[in-house]
Amino acid sequence: MIAPALQRQLEDVLGDRVRFEAPMARHTSLGVGGPADALATPADRDELAALLALLAEEGVPHLFLGKGFNTLVRDEGVEGVVIQLIRLRRIEERPGGRLRVEVGVSHAQLTRFCIERGLAGLEFGAGIPGTVGGWLAMNAGIGTREMVDVVREVEVMSPSGRHRRHLVQDTLRFGYRSLRGLAPGSALISTLLEVTLAEPEHVRAEVERLLARRAATQPLDIPSCGSVFKNPPGDFAGRLIEAAGLKGEHVGGAEISSVHANFITNRGDATARDVLELIELARRRIAEASGVELETEVQIVGRTS
Ligand SMILES: Cc1cc2nc3c(=O)[nH]c(=O)nc-3n(C[C@H](O)[C@H](O)[C@H](O)COP(=O)(O)OP(=O)(O)OC[C@H]3O[C@@H](n4cnc5c(N)ncnc54)[C@H](O)[C@@H]3O)c2cc1C
Repeated sequence: MIAPALQRQLEDVLGDRVRFEAPMARHTSLGVGGPADALATPADRDELAALLALLAEEGVPHLFLGKGFNTLVRDEGVEGVVIQLIRLRRIEERPGGRLRVEVGVSHAQLTRFCIERGLAGLEFGAGIPGTVGGWLAMNAGIGTREMVDVVREVEVMSPSGRHRRHLVQDTLRFGYRSLRGLAPGSALISTLLEVTLAEPEHVRAEVERLLARRAATQPLDIPSCGSVFKNPPGDFAGRLIEAAGLKGEHVGGAEISSVHANFITNRGDATARDVLELIELARRRIAEASGVELETEVQIVGRTS
């Protein structure tokens, strides 16, 4: 809980762009989890810098959230301030086949922009729900292509809000569904992405092909967080889960999808505890059956007690 005096200071910085005791189930695609002490959506870089400076001064923790499509918030909620940069939504074309894209841009907005302008290279992201900030932090992608293949530069703000830097690609440590090497609590602000000129109809056709393939293989009409586990080297988490007979397994309102075994869905009344227990059950059974230790892809955040 944020003390009343600090609540007033936060409102001085953010106006009505801060809310207290904000239910995170409403801000994450799985639809589970307790409240954040505060949820802030700064208007621009200056407001973000002022917010981070205040939090650093007061010793209040913060974490970033895009649209919550790969985040699981525990039922005990989140201590401190969750910061969503969803108001940073500019896309600018730059010379030489580059796009400067702010992190609050959504997958749908960017895909539309690329189709309208006839820009190819980012079609793979069309069905990866979320924001460009989440894409960067997760090195989001599909089998053939991921963010590391298109990112030329990333703009980052330091955890204290004091410094802003542009990091070029070869200094960034993208890994499998990860971006490492930034100071914890750093904000991703924007990125420079590489695109090529193409016929708008070709871009649209590729987007539609990828979306159709996804619709045929993933449970898109029920709340989930996408893939729960990372694929282990040389195998697929979904294949291991299916082989262990876990499709349809459930704990409370959380269920291992019978459409795609690496998805856990919320049947309507799931709690974060249900989802976490199901994750542990799958992990245990796979370790027993095949000796593989599955690692979670979904980002698990929030108080532990
Ligand atoms: C149906 C479905 C299908 C999916 N398919 C795919 C897929 O094919 N490939 C794939 O890679 N993923 C997939 N996902 C997962 C998800 O779409 C991606 O991980 C996406 O990148 C999440 O974006 P987000 O904005 O919702 O991120 P969030 O879940 O909000 O955040 C993810 C991480 O990014 C960090 N973050 C977000 N913004 C910032 C910022 N500005 N600064 C610092 N850190 C930040 C957060 O702290 C968190 O650790 C799927 C999810 C669903 C629900």
